[in-house]
Amino acid sequence: MRITRRVFCGAAFAGLAGCARGARRAGTAEKPAFPLVDLHVHLDNSTVDQVLALSAERGVKFGIVEHAGTKENVYPVVLSNDEELLRHLDTLAGKPVFKGVQAEWLDWQSGFSKEALKKLDYILTDTMTFPGPDGRRMKLWEKPEGLGTAQEFMARYVDWHLQIIETMSMDILANGTWLPAAFAAEYDTLWTEARVAKVVDALVKHGVALEISSGFSLPKLSWLRQAKAAGVKFTMGSNGRYPKMGLLDYSLTVAEQLELQADDFFLPNGNGPRRI
Ligand SMILES: [Zn+2]
Repeated sequence: MRITRRVFCGAAFAGLAGCARGARRAGTAEKPAFPLVDLHVHLDNSTVDQVLALSAERGVKFGIVEHAGTKENVYPVVLSNDEELLRHLDTLAGKPVFKGVQAEWLDWQSGFSKEALKKLDYILTDTMTFPGPDGRRMKLWEKPEGLGTAQEFMARYVDWHLQIIETMSMDILANGTWLPAAFAAEYDTLWTEARVAKVVDALVKHGVALEISSGFSLPKLSWLRQAKAAGVKFTMGSNGRYPKMGLLDYSLTVAEQLELQADDFFLPNGNGPRRI
């Protein structure tokens, strides 16, 4: 990973050997700019200890997310109730990671108590599961039929962003601005300034941070500029499965272009998810 920007090794990174190495690679004694944190790491077919070795090697602190929601959502792991959540949190106890979930669909909280959810550090979600014509959940990356024209889709997609940001207990919008394959080539024209403004305003109003996704190299720079100007906070995320977590090249490149500083980033503060 190319690291040319200034990095930060603060209290949150105590005991993380790779952080110092990351700072040395930066080759600078300049004042720290922001923490290197990947808040979108999926364990899936790896263990937390395997993943922690990569965290140290890459000098990046990780936030581990498991999918959370009802069993209607199909993923390698879907936490659906307190017992499953607490068992998962036990496996992370004492490890130098942030503990999150990737919430799925508007009803995701139905199986959990607030007490259990408060044990999390943060909640991340995305907009890539979308209401189909019959109202059922539709995974947009599986190239479903019935999305309508690009303009019809965008109108519904922006509304879907707003509904999620306004109603879900979330700290981070992940994979933001991603478009289905049928429309991805038109990203620059479909994400008009007015559409971006609607989503950005909702993020600011509800205090939701925007992930800069290295997994998808999104949102694009113009989108991020508009978000920064409005005061949106950012996170970095790989959406990585082993061994791809902590690879943050795109996030770091645009952070440098936008001259982001530590206070432009959201970090979990130890008090649990903000909207629980
Ligand atoms: Zn994910």
